[in-house]
Amino acid sequence: MAAMATRTLSSVMPTDASAPNSWGMGDGQAIPWDYAPAPEARDIVTLKERYGLFINGREVAASGGGTFISVDPSTELPLAEIARGTAADVDRAVRAARRAQSGSWGRLSGKERAKYLFRISRLLQERSREFAVLESIDSGKPIKESRDVDVPLAASHFWYYAGWADKLEYAFPGRVARPLGVAAQIIPWNFPLLMLAWKIAPALAAGNTVVLKPASTTPLSALLFAEVCVQADLPPGTVNIIPGPGETGMAMVTHKGVDKVAFTGSTEIGRKIYRGVAGTDKALTLELGGKAANIVFDDAPLDQAIEGIVNGIYFNQGEVCCAGSRLLVQESIAGPLIDKLKDRLATIRVGDPLDKNTDVGAINSRNQLEKITELVQSGVDEGAELYQPACDLPERGYFFRPTLFTNVAQSHRIAREEIFGPVLSVLTFRTPEEAVDKANNTEYGLSAGIWTDKGSRILEMVSRMKAGVVWANTFNRFDPASPFGGYKESGFGREGGMHGLHAYVRLEDR
Ligand code: NDP
Repeated sequence: MAAMATRTLSSVMPTDASAPNSWGMGDGQAIPWDYAPAPEARDIVTLKERYGLFINGREVAASGGGTFISVDPSTELPLAEIARGTAADVDRAVRAARRAQSGSWGRLSGKERAKYLFRISRLLQERSREFAVLESIDSGKPIKESRDVDVPLAASHFWYYAGWADKLEYAFPGRVARPLGVAAQIIPWNFPLLMLAWKIAPALAAGNTVVLKPASTTPLSALLFAEVCVQADLPPGTVNIIPGPGETGMAMVTHKGVDKVAFTGSTEIGRKIYRGVAGTDKALTLELGGKAANIVFDDAPLDQAIEGIVNGIYFNQGEVCCAGSRLLVQESIAGPLIDKLKDRLATIRVGDPLDKNTDVGAINSRNQLEKITELVQSGVDEGAELYQPACDLPERGYFFRPTLFTNVAQSHRIAREEIFGPVLSVLTFRTPEEAVDKANNTEYGLSAGIWTDKGSRILEMVSRMKAGVVWANTFNRFDPASPFGGYKESGFGREGGMHGLHAYVRLEDR
């Protein structure tokens, strides 16, 4: 791998003795740019040694007796032993969900369903610290992100869809919205609780019941959510949670008792799932990978754009399907922008996910770390120029430095493949046409960002981008009322907003 840049923060910041008085710090008392550790207490979480499956409102053992271990990616230490669901368990769960759908849950009015969803939302808020700490331990994401983004957004999704539960006739005027039935939902490891909320909240609001499989590296927040379902007194069978490997997920997809399949994850598995439902009348939504372009024009407010670029690719270690992993910079400002970006990278703090100062936590698994490392190596081998700030990484755990590649060609793997890590590839353009061509030159079409001072240019660019979501002068903004989803190999169907509700109803004429 190419040598790392050695420009550290201490080399660009004056020492105490040289701090100019004009900084107003008095007599050389410059504030050292070191952060004292600020660890979030983890004792709010009580981990059990073993977790079962959640079927029909109760924790049960897996039928095959199999288990697997969930690991803390920041320490590589085991957290808990989890029951490994089998096809027989999937069958039990789907039957329980069917009974609830045609009975206790299905018979409730929209107003009654709303009360449960509001209750779940309130419980998530009440237990938010516990969820945030658990999510960070299990996934490696920084506590400030799980605390300020994942958990509040999950709660607000339930709140938002609670509002729709008794208003379906206004959501779909002139039509009767019926639930689809039993939904099989498979979620990834990058936003475990938030993806659960994106899936479960609209499904329940519309009167469906669900069987959900969390990712094998991050099952714990879904299992804590099972406790919330019990606490909320949700009718048994309405929500069922079955941790297990990919084949358990496929057993859900192909189960005859399932009416709807919702999947978020890789394009490769998305294709398998598409094949799994082919020839059936199951409804399907796929939210898959991305390779978003973040486009910066020469009239953009540079400092704001730098923050947007950093947020776009280093948020959640870059393990984000809509990450702005390709930076397209107008050629005339490429030099100063890259210099600023390198300086900003030197201030990013990588380390303990539970430290409140941490910006970039641990990569979710050894597998993912290996994938990132392999793709970064390919960037170096193919001739791109690598820059990584010099920062100490913890001795144990799956960590990766924030990485920036310049001199990137569109043909490079790092410009084409989803890396799902803190790795940014910088390309340049001269004209808006070239920016559009390069931005759309990908098999994906999930998201994009545009940075410019001109509103008319934003509108023109948005109309020409093949992306489900385009952010202007911001990035990675989410709101439960706003639909999210992709084109092309990024999948189809929308989650969030009324569009997300639509994916869980069958519309009939009055
Ligand atoms: P996967 O697509 O394999 O995993 C997503 C979910 O699907 C997990 O719950 C997984 O279970 C499950 N799954 C795996 N195989 C099957 C199957 N045959 N049938 C049904 N369900 C299945 O993603 P990975 O975790 O392997 O990540 C690989 C790459 O995918 C990443 O490097 C990244 O590029 C991309 N990715 C994209 C995401 C996105 O949001 N767009 C999210 C996650 C990953 P299990 O965990 O047990 O394998």
